[in-house]
Amino acid sequence: MRIFDPHIHMTSRTTDDYERMAAAGVRAVVEPAFWLGQPRTSAASFADYFDSLIGWEPFRAGQFGVRHHATVALNPKEANDPRCRPVLDLLPRYLEKDAVVAVGEIGYDDMTPAEDEAFATQLALAVDHDLPALVHTPHRDKARGVERSLAVVAESGIAPGRVALDHLNEVTVKLARDSGCWLGFSIYPDTKMSPPRMVELLRTYGTERMLVNSAADWGRSDPLLTRATGEAMLAAGFTDDDVDLVLWRNPVEFYGQSGRLDLTDLDTPTSGTFEGNSILRGGD
Ligand SMILES: [Zn+2]
Repeated sequence: MRIFDPHIHMTSRTTDDYERMAAAGVRAVVEPAFWLGQPRTSAASFADYFDSLIGWEPFRAGQFGVRHHATVALNPKEANDPRCRPVLDLLPRYLEKDAVVAVGEIGYDDMTPAEDEAFATQLALAVDHDLPALVHTPHRDKARGVERSLAVVAESGIAPGRVALDHLNEVTVKLARDSGCWLGFSIYPDTKMSPPRMVELLRTYGTERMLVNSAADWGRSDPLLTRATGEAMLAAGFTDDDVDLVLWRNPVEFYGQSGRLDLTDLDTPTSGTFEGNSILRGGD
């Protein structure tokens, strides 16, 4: 089983995770820029974070045979903090980088006017830079959040086929599907979506435009739940080809729209150093 996790925050994960993921078949990941769990105090803090998402983290992933790409954005939560807003001026520079395959995560947290503005501004950046967009849907008041997100997407003029709406569930899947956007589902250990529930959604809505991710981060989460979902699909009678479509070809097609997805030489783990540093804490 080859697996592409289209949404995972590897910066918050350990090398044990990379080893277990590689052993489970995870060959490629996309890491969206997100909130650190505590507020950033300036745009400069984002610059270091974005640099690590396109520099150190892909290097680290490569040591374990996992290909790493990133998406960059001002995340919905911090869109409300005036100290972070200047990062919007920094984004165009990063959206030119080869390792960046989409604008994201953007969207709504609390659905405030500041979030409205940051969301629309960043969809316009996606259009300008000819990149897809990864849209986080809010954890509270989900149906209204998806409705409003779709309205902002429609207004931006970006093609729905270049947008993934993430963290969907049984309540929001239909609305999202009818929009023509890609559908992202985050499989969590004890909240939101589980592998059995995901299998039911795939039975009902089919495998087209469906994206399954672990969204693993610094909270309770599990980077192997993509694999568990593939196993649950097989147990439920889906074919190997169905699993390959959902866990590999769909995310490749979605992010491939950036023209920057590099999946060549996947069998050759990276070696050497990054800016003179190795994962051996300065050793060699
Ligand atoms: Zn996330």
